[in-house]
Amino acid sequence: MNISFIKNPAGCKCGREHFVNIKNLITGKNAINNLPDELKKLNCKKVFLFADINTYPIAGEKITKLLSSNNILCSEFVFKEQHLEPDEKAVGAAVMHYDTSCDGVVALGSGVINDIAKILSATARVPYIIVATAPSMDGYASATSSMALGGVKVTLPSKCADVIIGDTDILKTAPTDMLKAGLGDMLAKYISICEWRISNLINEEYYCEDVADLVRTALSKCVENSDGLLNRNDEAIEAVFYGLVIGGIAMTYAGASRPASGVEHYFSHIWDMRSLEFNTPSSLHGLQCAAATYIAAKLYDKIRHTKPDKEKALAFVKNFNFDLWANKLRAFLGDSAEPLIELEAKEQKYNAKKHAARLDKIIESYDKIIEIIDEEIPSVDVLTKLYDSINLPKTPDEFSIDSSLLPMTFKATKDIRDKYVLSRLAWDLGIIDEII
Ligand SMILES: [Zn+2]
Ligand SMILES: [Zn+2]
Repeated sequence: MNISFIKNPAGCKCGREHFVNIKNLITGKNAINNLPDELKKLNCKKVFLFADINTYPIAGEKITKLLSSNNILCSEFVFKEQHLEPDEKAVGAAVMHYDTSCDGVVALGSGVINDIAKILSATARVPYIIVATAPSMDGYASATSSMALGGVKVTLPSKCADVIIGDTDILKTAPTDMLKAGLGDMLAKYISICEWRISNLINEEYYCEDVADLVRTALSKCVENSDGLLNRNDEAIEAVFYGLVIGGIAMTYAGASRPASGVEHYFSHIWDMRSLEFNTPSSLHGLQCAAATYIAAKLYDKIRHTKPDKEKALAFVKNFNFDLWANKLRAFLGDSAEPLIELEAKEQKYNAKKHAARLDKIIESYDKIIEIIDEEIPSVDVLTKLYDSINLPKTPDEFSIDSSLLPMTFKATKDIRDKYVLSRLAWDLGIIDEII
């Protein structure tokens, strides 16, 4: 199968051409049996098999048997760490153990293993196949790696997998929290698509309805099947895995993270940054996204019931002091606040003139903004039922992050990247201090 989810890849109605470098995505029962054929198609004769002590026992032996019965040679490296960090040490170990006579990388794992394997295969310039062990995050199809560099969380360019294999018999062995995290990362798409459309409306940011729709369809499938997730039902697990891969492909199609990541991902980023900086607790990416999605949905509900007040918004911005705010960011995030503070010099999002222009646009299109929220984000009641049915976290307290940090976390989300998200809308409206 060649990946061509967008019906007309040679010229979408958004005016762009959408490409992705993934050659194949194979999901379902016994999907792993396709590994030798996929390697042959990529002309791989000797592969570097890469796993950690948690993932190797799941299917390491199965893979080596499949390879040897198909006359494909194999060199192995298994990380011994129980909790592997995506840092210089791990990448260094992978490179030092890499067998340069290999002409392909096969990784068995999920988040960190995949992030490191993407860097390794990009560096070695060889094809890469991921055999996924958990439907827990949306990085399978992205061409970047989430790493910790010098103790700071960074996103490095790497490469996307050439082939992604999601065998449901392997995926269903994932711990319950990872399954829940995968669904949480999918639910985040309610917020990200909503914010993409709002930014398109206010800032005329590029938007593609076909890409958004690809994600919406995958998300509905996950929600329809969600009651089977904790019972490790095949359809439920496949829907989440497929949805996460689609999320990654959609980001590649859009050339931006918009289709899969919004303010809820920034909550998660901030908790990760604080964890790296101050050793505070953090949880799985998807569980953090799940709680932040629920919080964002509640905040969007408040936006629904807010009447924009131009005088109030202008007065709020007049009183805003960036230097004071920068110091609060430093106290909250330590050294990792500096890139956020530097971003403002380039971006000038707090500039009063720019704000006034945005505010006019917001007030003029407020009915449309509410319409977008209504169309994209389910009601808090609907989400509450869904979250309770599979025991998803609704507050960060549930994974030991103090909920009293929420106001500051929310306010800091507007500084993370040059991206118009809920916290920026709330700042523009002059209600960011009172909304959370
Ligand atoms: Zn398009
Ligand atoms: Zn994510």
